Formats: sequence, structure tokens, C-alpha cells
Amino acid sequence: MKGIKNKVVVITGGTRGIGFETVKKFLSNGAKVALCGSKKETVDKALEELKGISEKYEVIGFYPNLLNPKEIDEMVDTILEKWGKIDVLINNAGVSDNKSIYDQAPEHFEKILDINIQAIFNCTKIIAEVMKEEKKGVILNTSSVVSLYGQKTGVGYPTSKFAVNGLTKSLARELGKDGIRVNAVAPGVIETDMVKALDKNIIDAISKTIPLDRLGTSEDVANAFLFLASDMASYISGEILSVDGAVVI
Ligand code: NAD
Repeated sequence: MKGIKNKVVVITGGTRGIGFETVKKFLSNGAKVALCGSKKETVDKALEELKGISEKYEVIGFYPNLLNPKEIDEMVDTILEKWGKIDVLINNAGVSDNKSIYDQAPEHFEKILDINIQAIFNCTKIIAEVMKEEKKGVILNTSSVVSLYGQKTGVGYPTSKFAVNGLTKSLARELGKDGIRVNAVAPGVIETDMVKALDKNIIDAISKTIPLDRLGTSEDVANAFLFLASDMASYISGEILSVDGAVVI
């Protein structure tokens, strides 16, 4: 893909699922990737798996607490010492929720918003400063189909994803003058490990509700990130790109 080779890309939640597939997609297109996870063990495991695919991949692992700006600063300093720039930030780390409001402590709601929205703010604030110096950069956020329709239980999750859309559209307007594009990808039902573990009948039943008649794959979502990060999308900013097979939930 045009404009990806040698780009320095930071991907949060890069140890598994959509994030790990996105890491592989950018590495195989010649990017240098800072892979972030929440724990040393899962980051090490992901790096080991990548080494098995290609010894030539340029990837470093980090496990900063995304709610602690000081730890994000330290990660950014290390990336800049090694690679001298950051071209793309993919805010992908996230947690889902399906607990009824009647069973939720206020702290539970706060925790979902912390990782799904506060962490994006923290990473974006610090990395946008770096991009501003270069007068260019791309910030991509992970929204969800629930940001269009809400969901039946687990109110924190759709609330956080509506906020991701608001943050994306607003930052596209604020940061455009600094040469920074900001977009989001809104996945539908994606076949990550959690979904793969479900009974085949359940998966078939879900698939029937999707006009394209299948679940999405992590690669479908990674392809959308790659396109939005590339020069092919050089005049696209403030967009929420649905990758959902036209599902209506
Ligand atoms: P996943 O659970 O497989 O991966 C989530 C990633 O986020 C992991 O790498 C995990 O380490 C990281 N993470 C979670 N909590 C963290 C924390 N406190 N600090 C740092 N990292 C943390 O999930 P996934 O399905 O691959 O989802 C990735 C993104 O896509 C999420 O933002 C999710 O909301 C969104 N999404 C997923 C689907 C789907 O169907 N899978 C649909 C719509 C949106």
C-alpha cells in the first residue's frame, strides 16, 4: 500500500485480536511498529509469534499504563530515540461490556470509559505534539457498530464508542491545520478469539443477520486501518468508516 513503507506506527491493544492483525498488516507492508499491550507476558508472546513469521520485522514492544501520561511519555521518548518520528497512532485498546445498569457499580462504568476513551485522549495528546512538529501524521481510533445503534445492556461500552466518534470528528477539525488526519474505524461483529469460541450454531445465527452473510475478520478491520493510514486516504479526515457487512444491530 502506497505510503506505508518505513512509517513509524504505534498500535495500542496490539497483542491479540484486531490489534495483532493490524500489527502484522503494517509490518508486512514495510512499516516499523511499536506494539503496545497491557502486560509484559502478552507483549513478549506477540513479539515471539512475529519473530516466527519474519526475523526482518522492525517491531518493539511496550506495556505502558495508558492512564498514566508519564508512562506514555517514556514510551514515546524510546520510540523517538530509535526511529526519530511517529507517523501513525492507532488507538485500538478497548474493553467491552454487557452488564445491566442495575448490576453495575459506578466504578465499573468509569473503568470502561477510562480505557475506551481516556486512554485515547492521553495517547493522542502526547503523540499529536510529536506529529505537529513534523506537520504531518495520522491518528486512527477504534469505534464500533454500537456507536450507531447503542446496545441492549452494558451501557458503558456504546457510551464510550459514541465518545470515540465525537473525539474523532472534533480532533479532525482541531488538528487539520497541523497536517494531522484523524479518522475512526467502526467494526461490526468480528470473529476474534472470543467469538470463535462460540458454538457453530450461534455463529451461523449471527451471520444470518448480516447482509454480507458472514462475520467480519480481524483482517477486514486491519485493511481499513491500512487504507486510512496510507497516502490513498490523504484527503480523508473526520470520517467514521464502518466495517460491518451492512449489519443493523
Ligand atoms: P481483544 O479483547 O481481543 O483485544 C483488546 C486489546 O486491548 C488487547 O490487546 C488488550 O491487551 C488491550 N487492552 C485491554 N485493556 C487494556 C488496558 N487496560 N490497557 C492496555 N491495553 C488494554 O479485543 P478486539 O475484539 O480485538 O477489539 C479491539 C478493538 O476493537 C476494541 O477497541 C474493541 O472495542 C473494538 N471492536 C471490536 C469488535 C469485535 O467484534 N471484536 C467490534 C467492534 C469494535
